[in-house]
Order: sequence, then C-alpha cells, then structure tokens
Amino acid sequence: MSNSAFSSLPISPAQVKNLTSLGYKKMTPVQAQSLPHMLKGKDIIAQAKTGSGKTAAFGIGLLDKINPRFFGTQALVLCPTRELADQVGKEIRKLARSVPNIKLVLLCGGKPFGPQVGSLEHGAHIVVGTPGRIQDHLKKRTLKVEQLNTLVLDEADRMLDMGFSEVMSDIIKQTPKSRQTLLFSATYPDEIKKMCRSIQRAPITVTVESEHEQSVIEQLFYQVKKHERNNTLLALFHHYQPRTAVVFCHTKAQCGEMAEFLRDNNIESLAIHGDLDQRERDQVLIRFANNSCSVLVATDVAARGLDIKSIGMVINYELPRDPEIYVHRIGRTGRAGEKGLAMSLFTEHEQVRVNAIEDYQKKPCLIDSPASLDHDSTYKLYPPMTTIQIDGGRKDKVRPGDLLGALTGDAGLQGAQIGKIDIFDRSSYVALEHSVVRQALNYLANGKVKGRPAKARKVR
Ligand code: AMP
Repeated sequence: MSNSAFSSLPISPAQVKNLTSLGYKKMTPVQAQSLPHMLKGKDIIAQAKTGSGKTAAFGIGLLDKINPRFFGTQALVLCPTRELADQVGKEIRKLARSVPNIKLVLLCGGKPFGPQVGSLEHGAHIVVGTPGRIQDHLKKRTLKVEQLNTLVLDEADRMLDMGFSEVMSDIIKQTPKSRQTLLFSATYPDEIKKMCRSIQRAPITVTVESEHEQSVIEQLFYQVKKHERNNTLLALFHHYQPRTAVVFCHTKAQCGEMAEFLRDNNIESLAIHGDLDQRERDQVLIRFANNSCSVLVATDVAARGLDIKSIGMVINYELPRDPEIYVHRIGRTGRAGEKGLAMSLFTEHEQVRVNAIEDYQKKPCLIDSPASLDHDSTYKLYPPMTTIQIDGGRKDKVRPGDLLGALTGDAGLQGAQIGKIDIFDRSSYVALEHSVVRQALNYLANGKVKGRPAKARKVR
C-alpha cells in the first residue's frame, strides 16, 4: 500500500479532518495495510502490538459502519484487561468525535454492575470491555448483540493465555454470523490460527514489521546443564551488570523461586505472574517503571504490560518453544537507540528451540560458553528509588502537581529527589530517593494534600 494519506480512504471528510486535528498526519503501517480491506467489510487478522496504531485502525473501521440513529449495539470490542479496555475506549471516543451522538460504554470486571446496566439502558452503539463482564451482561440480557456489525478481538493471544477461550466462544456465538470480525494479536500461535478458522471468513492477514531493529540487540545463547542454570543466571548479571533486567520463566512457581534466589544473591527482584491481583500487578509495574525495582522475573503473559520501557537485559531462563515469543520477549531491550542484551540459557535437550529461532530469524544464533563469564561475588543490584503510596487519586482530584508541590514545599524535599508520579483512581504512587523517604512520610503523616490529611506508606 503506497498511499498512506488518510484522505485516500473511503471515509467521511469529517473523519479525515478529525484525524488531522488529532495530529495523525498519515497512516501507520498497520493502518495502511488493514484499513482499505476493513472498510470493504473484510475480516482481518492483524499481527500488531501496542504502539502500532492498531486501536485507531479498528476504531476507524468500526465507526465507519455505525448508524447513529439506531441505538442498538453495533460494535463490540473484547480486550483482555481493564487497562487496555480503558485505553481503547479513550481512543475510540476521540475518533468518534467525527460522528455526532455516538455512545460508547465500557464494561469491565472489578467495577459495580448497576451503573453499567444504567448506561446500557439507553442504548450503546459501541461496547468495549473484558470477556467475563460482557458475558455476565449477555446472560442477564442487559446487553444484546443480535444487531452487531463489527466484532473486535484485541490482543486475542493474551485473552487465550488468560483462559478466556470458552467465554469468548460463548459471546461470539450470540453475535450474528454476518458480522465482520477483526482480530488483533501480538503473536500468532496455533490456537489463534484455529480460532480464526472457526470465527472468520476469508480473512486478510496483515503483518507489520517488528518495530525493533534486531541489529541493536546483542543476542547470545549459553548451553548449560540443568543444574548450572542458576549459577549461569547469576554470572550473566555479574558479567554484564545491567541496570535493569527481565528474567523470563515458564511457570508462576518458577518466577517466585527465581526472584527469591536472586534476592538471596543481592539482586533485588520482584516476580510478576498471573496469580497477582490487579493492585499487586499495578504496583509491580509501577515500581519497575519508576526505578524502585530493577529486576522482574516474569511469565510471558504477565510481562505484557511492560511494553513501555527499554530494559537493559532480557534473560530467557528457559527458551520458549515458539520462536515468535522469543522475538517478542527480546524486543523489550534495545529500544530508543540503546544497545540491548538478550541472553538465553538452554540445555542440550532444548537445542531444537535454538534451531527454530535460527530458522525464524534467518541467521545463526551465537553460542557462547558459560565459562567465559566473569563472576563477581561482591556484585549487588539494588534499585535507586523507593515507591510510596498515598491514599487519594484522580477521583479525589489529586494531580501530580499537588503531590510535587506538597513534597517540595512544606515537606522540604528537592525536586531532583522525586521521581515518577503515577495517579490512579483512588491512590497515587511517588518514587523517592531512599534518603528522603522517612522525611516525606513524616510530613505526610501530619501535613495535608489537597486540604486533606494524606495517609501514605512504603510499597514493599
Ligand atoms: P495503539 O497501537 O493503538 O496503542 O496506538 C499507539 C498510539 O499511536 C496512540 O497514542 C494513538 O493515539 C497514536 N496513533 C494512532 N494512529 C496514529 C497515526 N496515524 N499517526 C500518529 N499517531 C497515531
């Protein structure tokens, strides 16, 4: 597709103008490849990640078919998590400015049911939400999808990973066969292929080149005996001394054990896996992003929210069977022009996985010897910051400036001692240099934020 101007698409002039006002000058590759087909009503399988502009791609596509005068649900977007549903809802609302009177309702779990029923009562043209809650509304008949035109499955691979397969088929069964189905997925494993065959008609496949230049990532593979894995993992830290790292493991139990093993060896780490509840998960991701956690030990599913940050080193404690997952994992290092390190351990038994990666990347994997790594028994890796959590967030009208103001004003901290500030609905997180944590907590115990006493504590 050579023409990447939005004006080349058969969409309304109002939408073209809206896109310009949003600062979208031209289509991103996923948009340029999928929109011409989508607007003709074709089913789509798009392999695209967050950051590719995929939301606008399906957003523009689904809006094109909405009849504002009919108040039934015409488009349904299924997302794996509440955070993603929120983001998708926001993006579609921006795009929907070009069509008057479009109503979009978010239906996510973890939120009260009643108000959702209330917002559905007067009709919602577009529904965005998580599978479990959407299914609940369908069961109660508070949501009806018999008139649906467009079904979008966003991050379909992740929804399957999270065990939503049955819920998704139950939802899909209730939609008309004539619907258009748009499926977005970062990876394209067999389960997704199977699902596409059963729910799509002659789909067009769109693959966007990986955003990451493979060449800036140094990839090395270490053959180890099973019992040498842990020591080689330590040696990788000792030798390369990354400031931040993610270690990938297969199972939840392994993540916990590995994080403990690293902590026992002076490498402060946190495990992130599917057993954490939303709040715990948010806290781990916040701490990693604001430098109060340097090493994460993660399963593939749990690491998805990590796309935001360049990571010094990615370590595959075990190699995945699917080479696509390998490429996806290592793509998190070496961003923004920095050189990335991707280190992988494998046993003789797992040589086939190395071969699969070679085939996939069409280049040989460089094998290095664990004996070449320097050990440094004095090595320590501790994060430079500590996170404190303060009760009060967006819904209490707390803004980053209020917290910064309170801490640099009466509390007497220097601006440079305060790191990233994250505001959630009912709580806020602030990264602080270790040396001023006590001072900040003491102030907050007595002082006020937004005229109210603020309860605060260290996040551990
Ligand atoms: P997504 O991959 O959907 O998460 O989108 C990533 C970001 O790109 C979002 O902040 C969008 O608002 C933005 N975006 C989407 N399409 C375009 C475009 N054609 N030009 C510039 N920015 C875009």
